Amino acid sequence: MSQSRMAARAIVIKSESELACMRQAGSLLAEVLQLLVQEVRPGLTTAHMDALADRELKRRGAIPSFKGYRGFPASLCVSINDEVVHGIPGDRVMAEGDIVALDVGAIYQGYQADAAVTVPVGKVSPQAQRLIEATRGALEAGIATARAGGRLGDISAAIQGHAESRGFSVVREYVGHGIGKEMHEEPAVPNFGLPGRGPLLKAGMALALEPMVNAGGWRTRLAEDGWTVLTADGSLSAHFEHTIAILDGGAQVMTAPPGD
Ligand code: MG
Repeated sequence: MSQSRMAARAIVIKSESELACMRQAGSLLAEVLQLLVQEVRPGLTTAHMDALADRELKRRGAIPSFKGYRGFPASLCVSINDEVVHGIPGDRVMAEGDIVALDVGAIYQGYQADAAVTVPVGKVSPQAQRLIEATRGALEAGIATARAGGRLGDISAAIQGHAESRGFSVVREYVGHGIGKEMHEEPAVPNFGLPGRGPLLKAGMALALEPMVNAGGWRTRLAEDGWTVLTADGSLSAHFEHTIAILDGGAQVMTAPPGD
């Protein structure tokens, strides 16, 4: 889940034992997300996906972190086509040609993990496929740039550069975030920025990187449900997210899929 407002707290540096707890949360979350991806097919409702997420998280001893967060009514965000993030599951049926962003969060033994992927439903347009690949690539570019001693702006610039070089735009109003005992901690992690700027990255920081990339312009609008974020121009949008730990010399993905 992305952050829309800046919190006013200090950046928390996690101990190795705290990062170990976060890896456990991340590992079980990645398993659940992989099950969800495998379940996607035309004709299923988004409520079906939410029920699966809720059941599989609880079966692993985790608490679905989204449910009740500022009143969000579900354990999973499902955002289809021009929906950017925070789509509420319900009666909507996934159809051939849709692109579906699945965003899920877990709390395990007091620590949080947050991850998202966008998947095609059956055969999708070449543009939709390119958008998905560019957004996944933008997240990978951000992760590859993250390291202790660098700056947060290095990550932001890598994400933005990857998406924009492929002809797409990055959302400005919603950003990634620090994560730990709380889902949204400092710092905010914008998907746009300049290298060498922003907070110094230190070993033990945990961040949720989450590029939201639009096929058209970057502007968004909020649906009447108060949650679903849509592209302002009706263009397609994709979303990928990993929870990572900043380490000396690089970053570790704590929500890597099983077998990765
Ligand atoms: Mg998030």
